[in-house]
Amino acid sequence: MIPKKATFVIAVLIGLAVGCSAPQSTAESQSPKEEAPEEAEQTELAVVREVMTQEGQTTLTPAQALQKLKDGNERFVRGELSNRVHSAQVYATAAGQFPYAIVLGCVDSRAPAELLFDTELGDIFNARVAGNFVNDDILGSMEFATAAAGAKLIVVMGHTACGAVKGSCDNVQLGNISSLVNNIRPSVEALTPDGETCSSSDVERVDAIAAHNVARTLAQIRERSEIISELEQKGTVKIVGAMYDLATGKVTFQ
Ligand SMILES: [Zn+2]
Repeated sequence: MIPKKATFVIAVLIGLAVGCSAPQSTAESQSPKEEAPEEAEQTELAVVREVMTQEGQTTLTPAQALQKLKDGNERFVRGELSNRVHSAQVYATAAGQFPYAIVLGCVDSRAPAELLFDTELGDIFNARVAGNFVNDDILGSMEFATAAAGAKLIVVMGHTACGAVKGSCDNVQLGNISSLVNNIRPSVEALTPDGETCSSSDVERVDAIAAHNVARTLAQIRERSEIISELEQKGTVKIVGAMYDLATGKVTFQ
């Protein structure tokens, strides 16, 4: 059983999150104490963050969408993640979503986009594959996110010390990992001088290959998706690359 007072607070939180007024007190909670949330509860109400609305998504520019991610990452780095009530955000987004960005990142367990950009539920699409490269399905997801769902920003985010890049560097041949790492090989070959062999122990080269892979992926998006390329040319959508530093939590946009 959830205590009556807790139920009341949750109902108020949900009301705030969807932008409507707080619900009326029930017959069971008519006492003055129940009608006015205590100080601690009011503090909790003040930090509930609202989800993206259709109007918010429509009026947001691609540059503003990028700034939102930059601001969120700064909060993450400072250790000042926003307080939010996810149950209220579930309720507020149930009827529709208005995300402003799609982030293509690696599956690495230390690089979850929603967390390191401190986003609300429904703010971003998150496509993940080891090595953050594109294929037809990822491109289709990006086209859906932008042309159909209205997102203003595409971010391709690599990261330091990426296992997929190391695997490609070492040219690992094992099961389905072989085809995975082959997607990154052009970047390995571009940054490995003739006569040299790439080694995953070369930390600087591994990170340089990861950054090269991000830049190459951006070019592939523009080349292989006419829909996204046109949206970018019209200024409706911005496409940017980024690198996430596993050691600092900082995302650096290219
Ligand atoms: Zn990775």
